[in-house]
Amino acid sequence: MSAAILPPRGVVARVPAKVNLELRVGPRRADGFHALSTVYHAVDLTDEITVESAEEWGVTVLGPYAGRVPTDESNLAMRAARAVAALADVDEPVHITIDKSIPVAGGMAGGSADAAGTLLACDSLWQTDLSRSDLEEAAAELGSDVPFLLTGGTAIGSGRGEQVVPVLTQGTFHWVFALHHSGLSTADVYAECDRLRADEDVPVPEPSGELMTALRAGDVDQLASALMNDLEPAACSLDSTLRKTMAAGLTHGALATTVSGSGPTVAFLARDKAAALDLMVSLSADGVADDVVHARGPAAGAHILNDITVR
Ligand code: ATP
Repeated sequence: MSAAILPPRGVVARVPAKVNLELRVGPRRADGFHALSTVYHAVDLTDEITVESAEEWGVTVLGPYAGRVPTDESNLAMRAARAVAALADVDEPVHITIDKSIPVAGGMAGGSADAAGTLLACDSLWQTDLSRSDLEEAAAELGSDVPFLLTGGTAIGSGRGEQVVPVLTQGTFHWVFALHHSGLSTADVYAECDRLRADEDVPVPEPSGELMTALRAGDVDQLASALMNDLEPAACSLDSTLRKTMAAGLTHGALATTVSGSGPTVAFLARDKAAALDLMVSLSADGVADDVVHARGPAAGAHILNDITVR
């Protein structure tokens, strides 16, 4: 007689953060979102999501950002779990533990990453076997960045960012991120962008050829000159310390700098790993950020690490 295979009691997923290599913000659409043309790039600064069968629905957040993340139904990971349960008609509570390293409200899509990881983990835990397109549809409903965090790598995002097409790239890029614990609200940064551009005729955005060429060639110097972010003036207007942080990194040898998404995280592109580590030391000594981390891109999208099968 063969032993019955028990379904897993829990599942662990790992999810990357993102930086936008290019973020072109078009006009505000009728639904309130802005038309975007962006190039997302996943980096190996990661959160780990553990989803376990439980008596009641719940969320625990671990790590230095725990106090700034809601643990009720508004947590994006909880919303993702509820979305899978509704899609697959499952009525089994789970407890979600988020071991958080991605900064909160840092412009690196940490909440969206947690949602993407939870979609995969719940699908695996409940053995619901949702199709990729079901998962992508649920991801797009949860937030504009969530579909990219499922895909990872480097990808063009259009629409409000939820329509994702992977981009061919070569090699590995080394980044240093200057983190600011204060955080910036994404909605506030878009509102400030609208205010700063009130007198401009804003065109429908399109991706740039220069960036695609740089990525195909894996050319770090070309990539350095192609980084751009339409939200940077708005983020710097709301947080006047960001310009100083950006200038410090360039002085210490960064090839280029950009605000990550809506900020306030500042990204620096380094020539290689050694240059990135030197830059980290210099920026830490300057005290221009609350924390400084090194990460590589492109990184894998949300993926399952292991099942917890012991009962
Ligand atoms: P984006 O780059 O997509 O604009 P962000 O990185 O700036 O996002 P997040 O870290 O995703 O911002 O958090 C935005 C807000 O969402 C936080 O202020 C927090 O209150 C709320 N939130 C809900 N769920 C989560 C989660 N799982 N992790 C982090 N924040 C969450």
